[in-house]
Amino acid sequence: MNFEFATATRIVFGNGAVRQLGQNVKTYGSRALVVTGANPRRAENMLSSLTENGIGSSVFPMTGEPEIVTVENGVAFAKKEQCDFVISIGGGSVIDTGKAIATMMKNEGALLDYLEIIGRGQALKKRGAPFIAIPTTAGTGAEVTRNAVLASPEHKVKVSLRSPMMLPTVAVIDPELTYDLPPALTATTGLDALTQLIEPYVCLRANPMTDSFCVDGIHRAARSLREAVFNGQDESARADMSLASLFGGLALANAGLGAVHGFAGPIGGMFPAPHGAVCAALLPHVMAANIRALRERDPHNFALIRYYRIAAILTDNPHATADAGVEWVQKLVSDLPVPRLGAYGLREEHVADVVAKAANASSMKANPIVLTPEELAQTLRLAL
Ligand SMILES: [Zn+2]
Repeated sequence: MNFEFATATRIVFGNGAVRQLGQNVKTYGSRALVVTGANPRRAENMLSSLTENGIGSSVFPMTGEPEIVTVENGVAFAKKEQCDFVISIGGGSVIDTGKAIATMMKNEGALLDYLEIIGRGQALKKRGAPFIAIPTTAGTGAEVTRNAVLASPEHKVKVSLRSPMMLPTVAVIDPELTYDLPPALTATTGLDALTQLIEPYVCLRANPMTDSFCVDGIHRAARSLREAVFNGQDESARADMSLASLFGGLALANAGLGAVHGFAGPIGGMFPAPHGAVCAALLPHVMAANIRALRERDPHNFALIRYYRIAAILTDNPHATADAGVEWVQKLVSDLPVPRLGAYGLREEHVADVVAKAANASSMKANPIVLTPEELAQTLRLAL
């Protein structure tokens, strides 16, 4: 057994954590670039904590998905404002943008030099500026991952800037920031978190450290996702989902993912579908396809036993079958406000193209069994 585990240098978790931020980041410099979503008001408590501690801030609000040009503009702005470090407060897109900006503040050359697939894929030479990640959703776990997903509209793909040197300096997870997240966004981001706990647990690079995060996280998501969606002010449900998201991030960054995320990359590049919605629509069908393929072609694979364990946790029944776990997820997805992929324009005529691209995605390579093109196509059709 060989594995490696790396994460943010420091993880701070708890209600109100964001109000103490200034104390925690004084050592990183006197001016922060603060990347926010479209509504910078969410950052107010955090900004006043910086001011109280004598730290200046330059706010960089962004909307939609991060594109290469967003990162380039952010780097130029940070340099003009003489920022020493970067804070992102927002969803996964905002965190990924800040992560990429902090990285490119210290690495020379163009962003494209370092991007996989569409760029030259060079390794980063230097650690970026200190980066503090503060999630306001509970799903992506981006506060502890080592890549930033960026969209290239001209190539119609999403690609990653990736390096162990991109792990955030500090991850601050304050569940209170998620209390006013609307039900639909709570549902899709929460189902992304659940996917990011199930896929690393059955994937080819699972290891004992990521396993323990997955088991605990699946348990928390199973008991709290519905409650967080339908009663957003529920303190313990929100804390559970913030932890589930964090644990999913720890697991995926150190183990890998699977076919759901193999599909999510190309679909996210081709259609205006939020990542969480794509994962939600595909999760039960990919679980079913994997279980069927494992039974048919590799019945002694450890992943099959793990699907039984997942089912036991989800259904709270130690004797549950793997299929009962799939049914539980299917019921959860249909009870929550989650659209199917057809709602984003994905049709039968796109299936072959998506399957071809997904088969080569890096996440697909960690799936516990190789799914055939026919199996992938059939799985995708069920999510349309
Ligand atoms: Zn995901």
